[in-house]
Amino acid sequence: MTTNSYHPETIALHGGNYRKDETTNSVAVPIYQTTSYQFDNQLHASNLFSLKELGNIYTRIMNPTNAVLEERMAQLEGGIAGLAVSSGQAASALAIQNLCQAGDNIVSSTDLYGGTWNQFANTFKQLGIEVRFADPSDPTNFSKLTDSKTRGYYAETLPNPKLNVFPIEEVANIGKENGIPLIVDNTAAPITCKPIEHGASIVVYSLTKWIGGHGSSIGGMIIDSGKFNWTEFPERQPLYNTPDPSYWGWVLGKVVPEALGANLTYIVRARFVLLRDLGSSLSPTNSFNIIQGLETLPLRFKKHQENAALVAKFLKEHQSVNKVIYPGFQDGINKKRTEKYLSDGFGPLVGFELKDGLEAGKKFIDSLKLLYHVANIGDARSLAIHPASTTHSQLSPEDQIRSGVTPGYIRLSVGIENIEDILNDIDQALKVSSKSVKSVA
Ligand code: PLP
Repeated sequence: MTTNSYHPETIALHGGNYRKDETTNSVAVPIYQTTSYQFDNQLHASNLFSLKELGNIYTRIMNPTNAVLEERMAQLEGGIAGLAVSSGQAASALAIQNLCQAGDNIVSSTDLYGGTWNQFANTFKQLGIEVRFADPSDPTNFSKLTDSKTRGYYAETLPNPKLNVFPIEEVANIGKENGIPLIVDNTAAPITCKPIEHGASIVVYSLTKWIGGHGSSIGGMIIDSGKFNWTEFPERQPLYNTPDPSYWGWVLGKVVPEALGANLTYIVRARFVLLRDLGSSLSPTNSFNIIQGLETLPLRFKKHQENAALVAKFLKEHQSVNKVIYPGFQDGINKKRTEKYLSDGFGPLVGFELKDGLEAGKKFIDSLKLLYHVANIGDARSLAIHPASTTHSQLSPEDQIRSGVTPGYIRLSVGIENIEDILNDIDQALKVSSKSVKSVA
């Protein structure tokens, strides 16, 4: 059955070349809890190893439960194929290691999840891969930092805490002129943004967030648009245009499209070279859990966004709140980008600044009764955190401000509970926090 022409709500339930389990007729995707797969015969085995045929070899590299998740996600995003990995962090790491060797560099947006920032600024540096950080407010900053060793561009669609939408098309176009693919982390904007439609070549996700949606399993995904030409500028992408010592000296940019009849070069390398060698695979049980979330993602995400819009409006009118950071309240170029790239809602994240600063921020968090206080986003439950005293506490006050975190800033990941219950909890916590600061003063 081809499901590519269906709407997102239908793909989430039916996508992934899966109708039923061929042996049992099971409708739910089974957990194929196996490490390995019996080959039909010796020829079958050698064909699989030489990519003459695609099929199951070993669960570190592929698994039928993961395959359904990969295909559904690729269909939802308009990509050609996906690769499930053990976490969002593994997705960004592999996505870049699939372009870079020691001595190479990528240019990344400054507006990133803190864990990604650390991976880029510290761990990649130790591996000899340089990440150059560009302020995304001006897309030309990406070209200014590009040199002959630049292999990729990287950004998040909807980075928090600033919630300024990234100029995907503008930066993708700069890259295309120079043979440089744009990788977009779309974790905070599934359904409402399709980065591939705007020119991104690769999309990555932390599946841990809204895709899984229930705070139960860590996972990540890399999706290949299949649209990037890996051989157009051979010197720009050496991993695809020089012999690969671990694959009989094949030049993957030529051999893979010839062998498989499609531009699967990037994702095939990610699977058969990097997942094989680095081993950050997703367990089939986590994959199953994430599939349960994916099946209702469009419905849940709609509710997340509706609730977030109502929370943002409520906070904007609240006397204890200085400022609300929400994509729907942007102006100028950020408003234009929001409208261009978030086509189906302004996302589920809301930030706000308390008038009474740091102490009020801490008190607000301690006064919440319904919202969870966790270092996470994307659960079906509403979540809150005070970044200045937690996730961003190791940054200097100046770096906190630069990253968009003021002392009284609170980040909310708005869940799908009844909106009255969410608003009542926020309201009572705001009252306690402003009263306590006033009584100290
Ligand atoms: N990307 C974004 C935007 C995130 O928010 C996170 C985690 O919070 C990650 C990537 C990393 O994902 P994971 O925790 O699944 O490794």
